[in-house]
Amino acid sequence: ATPTAIMAAIGNATKHGFLVREGDALERLSSVTKITFDKTGTLTYGTPEVTAVKSVSDYTEEEIYFFAAAAEQMSEHPLGKAVVRCYRKKPAACEDFQMRPGEGVTATVCGKVVKAGNLKLLKETLLSRTLAAGAGRYLNEGSTVIYVAVDDRPAGYLVLSDTVREESKDMITELDHIGVQPVLLTGDHQNAADAIAAPLGIREVHADCLPEDKLKYIGAYQEKGNAVCMIGDGINDAPALKKADVGIAMGGTGSDIAVDAADIALVDDEIRELPHLLSLSRRMMTTIK
Ligand code: ADP
Ligand code: MG
Repeated sequence: ATPTAIMAAIGNATKHGFLVREGDALERLSSVTKITFDKTGTLTYGTPEVTAVKSVSDYTEEEIYFFAAAAEQMSEHPLGKAVVRCYRKKPAACEDFQMRPGEGVTATVCGKVVKAGNLKLLKETLLSRTLAAGAGRYLNEGSTVIYVAVDDRPAGYLVLSDTVREESKDMITELDHIGVQPVLLTGDHQNAADAIAAPLGIREVHADCLPEDKLKYIGAYQEKGNAVCMIGDGINDAPALKKADVGIAMGGTGSDIAVDAADIALVDDEIRELPHLLSLSRRMMTTIK
């Protein structure tokens, strides 16, 4: 595209809420055939509510919530932030906080080692299957479950429900119309992934993704000749945003690390504008020479 066409396209993109780092990104976007979406915080608002707390141990539900909120207080993940926000009290002090991307967090609370996250995080914990069995009902509804282990024993779990962005459905339909295939890449459980993808009309779904799995799927699409655009908001999405031909970060609620890794930032998280950006990039390329 000519410099003039690029400048005009960048200007238009800005009006529609996209901060484009360099014109090359729009050129690459024009040939994109697949768009991979992160789920939490991208297709959903990413501000889930804690809807239930369950114990599978001698700890009370209040104690489970207490441990989870303390362990999550430094978490940057939307799920961790939701736990702390919904807890409403001041979380107890914690030490040795560790973030495990795509899995959860670990920390020491009141001298006990607390793990809060998915089954991957609790893999070495005995009985994690028993823990999962009780949570099955919530997972089937599309809720997300944060399992809590205390001193490597399953203690209980928190149930969180997120809401799909109002604009997601129309946006996916429009992408289909312009011949771009949507894909869901999520670290969440298969049932939670399907519960979001099916009503949106996303047919390709990869659940239980670690950050490196998201990267792997994008690489595989690229090897098959696709130019891939990735859209995400989290630290865990950063490697995928870099790997994709075009990375777009949710600039409003997304983490700074995701924004830094991306070519384009969507300033106010208005994902309804995505199809417009794709069409714009294609038009930019046809006004060459
Ligand atoms: P996505 O944004 O696609 O849902 P993530 O990679 O951000 O995927 O998260 C994957 C999964 O890792 C979550 O669904 C959750 O099970 C777990 N997880 C990540 N961070 C946390 C956290 N701070 N607390 C509890 N669970 C977490
Ligand atoms: Mg996310």
